[in-house]
Amino acid sequence: MYVNFGGFVSFSTVDWRGRAACTVFLRGCPARCFYCHNVDLQGGEDLRDTDEVIDLIRGSRTVAGAVVFSGGEPTLQGPALLHLAAAARAMGFSVGLHTNGMFPRVVEALLEGHLVDMVALDLKTTWERYDDLLGVAAVDAVKQSLSACRRAKADGSLGTCQVVVTLFRGREDDLPSIAEAAGGLDLVLQQGVAAGFVPLTRQELEAAAAPLRRSVLIRTREDGEVGYDPEQKPFR
Ligand code: SF4
Repeated sequence: MYVNFGGFVSFSTVDWRGRAACTVFLRGCPARCFYCHNVDLQGGEDLRDTDEVIDLIRGSRTVAGAVVFSGGEPTLQGPALLHLAAAARAMGFSVGLHTNGMFPRVVEALLEGHLVDMVALDLKTTWERYDDLLGVAAVDAVKQSLSACRRAKADGSLGTCQVVVTLFRGREDDLPSIAEAAGGLDLVLQQGVAAGFVPLTRQELEAAAAPLRRSVLIRTREDGEVGYDPEQKPFR
């Protein structure tokens, strides 16, 4: 079986915070987010035998206990992703997934096969603005992926599910409805960085999060990832 390969990092502590992971990047993404930091992985072709990628994962076993599939959009290549996740699982790795949620059947298959332990699901904007922002019809698919993750988290078959929101200056008012969609899942506010935008500071992200009255994780270039709970004070 072949996979459209995007790259490999043998050791990372940021792709699954708190875990030593290797990261497999899969090429290709149908969305066109204006702030994409992996534009080179939106398209192109570098077909590799999945055995080659499995060897890369195996080679990181001495330093990493987890593998994260990222991209691009890894669920675009469902059969290859399922094959790689199963192989990683068989080698004793925990498995993480970064996804935009556009291919819910693949997310469901990973969950039903107990092939994933952590999902970081992007919720990019309000449902009303979703398809405009991504440049493709995505909203129904993302809702389906979110529901699948929520069910799996509730029944205990998914250990960790983070909803990741990349927030830009001027869109702070969108946050309450995005957070409502996330429900009780862990919420990560990520500082949006793109040409023409002054990034929100950590303090500004905290101010945006304050009305949510729930704990969030805030990620900025300046401070890394810190916890914030408006009912208390920064907790990490
Ligand atoms: S979904 Fe992710 S990989 Fe795809 S265009 Fe958006 S930011 Fe880039």
